[in-house]
Amino acid sequence: MKNHLLLLGCLMIISCQPTSTLFDDALCIENITTIDAINGLRESQTVIIKAGKIFKISPTSDLPLSPENDIVDGTGKFLIPGLWDAHVHFAYMEELAPRMHDLFLAYGITSLRDTGGKIDFVRKWKAQSLANPTTTPRLMIAGPLLDGLPNVYDGSDPMRPPLSVGLGSKEAVEQKIEELDSLGVDLLKAYEMLTPEQFSAATALGQEKGLKVTGHVPLSMDVISASNAGLNSMEHMRNLELSCASNAEELLQQRRQLLSEGRQDPGGVLRSRIHQTQRATAIENYDPKVAEKVLQVLAKNQTWQIPTITLSTAFTELPFATEEWQSSFAYLPDSVEQRWKQGIATVAAQEKTTFQKNYSKWLMNMVKQVHSAGIDMMAGTDTPIFFLTPGRSLHEELAVLVTAGLSPLDALKTATLNPARYFGLEQELGSIEEQKWADLLLLDANPLEDITNTQRIRAVVKQGNLINREQLDQLLAKLSSEK
Ligand SMILES: [Zn+2]
Repeated sequence: MKNHLLLLGCLMIISCQPTSTLFDDALCIENITTIDAINGLRESQTVIIKAGKIFKISPTSDLPLSPENDIVDGTGKFLIPGLWDAHVHFAYMEELAPRMHDLFLAYGITSLRDTGGKIDFVRKWKAQSLANPTTTPRLMIAGPLLDGLPNVYDGSDPMRPPLSVGLGSKEAVEQKIEELDSLGVDLLKAYEMLTPEQFSAATALGQEKGLKVTGHVPLSMDVISASNAGLNSMEHMRNLELSCASNAEELLQQRRQLLSEGRQDPGGVLRSRIHQTQRATAIENYDPKVAEKVLQVLAKNQTWQIPTITLSTAFTELPFATEEWQSSFAYLPDSVEQRWKQGIATVAAQEKTTFQKNYSKWLMNMVKQVHSAGIDMMAGTDTPIFFLTPGRSLHEELAVLVTAGLSPLDALKTATLNPARYFGLEQELGSIEEQKWADLLLLDANPLEDITNTQRIRAVVKQGNLINREQLDQLLAKLSSEK
């Protein structure tokens, strides 16, 4: 009897063991810790990737795999969703554009939002991405900055390449949006010289077309009226300081006066004059009560923020001054590397102004408050502006978001789930869940313990295609050799 019971027990153990499964044409990552903004951290998971998507995710103990599967051992490693850089410009430095897709991918950036450039130029890089979805980041494009007259990015000097169109009337704005929509843009970008009437026309038509309008708050408006008029997101928190000052109303009247007086000047000159007249004063007159009202409106209207902290605090923090940062210049064209190194030496040698110091402090504080107010943020860089290497700079932005007060998981959210939500793609991207695209990063260390661990990339998965460290290094070596 005892023997029988023993035998029965053995049989039960055998029959309870799930049978090992073979997944045809699949990539299986076994025993890995997954981290995403919806599910947090899950240990010992098996992730099955098939036809570019996450086919199945299950605790490893519940899903024994047949050894015939294509298995990646994830023991001791971490899996996060592929990262987005939500503020890039392919058209800013045309000689750099041909290597941007590869550079982003090598640094684990699997999706991009291009926030301004000539439509034909950015469409070309979007087409390349669509044609090569397993080896190229996806690219969402805004086309040119929609600016008023005189427009800022008019091509008049190398600092202001022709990224914008200068539009003289409300009708011209509408016509341009019709044209851009027919050419397949994913969003619109409004710029600083638009009149309130032009701006409202842009947001109204954008809404009709299902295109989000991002931008810089026009100098002729304040943040509350721009948000109420339908601005969906703000880049760099640009001109937010002007509306958070105790004398915000006075500053607005002064700006309108300056705009009217400077109509004959080049847009870049006029904008600089206004910024120089008002920004330092606005920071000095920062009023927490006024700011609170502004943030309440931004929260109510769900006006997203892309603070680009790395860019906006670069004069004081000099993120590009390190040897490690400049080692990434090896992947840029020789001419760019030389120019950037000289430019950095110049910036580093300059005495930091009181305004620069105050502005950096103001911005870090503002990011924290925006986060506390429940306003959604996205991580973006503005690369390749201001010596910010494509790819490398997004990891810096994640780190400074944590410095500003976000938890590492919240920082990751700004570069994964949030951009997916922004584009209405949250059913397809942004977390590690079944049926979503397999855009993933395999890391050697836990980014929740130290956000800089996002840089310890063991492999990138783009729409199911696993690119391992060796292949990523080959990609980078190819860029270095083509200088
Ligand atoms: Zn930009």
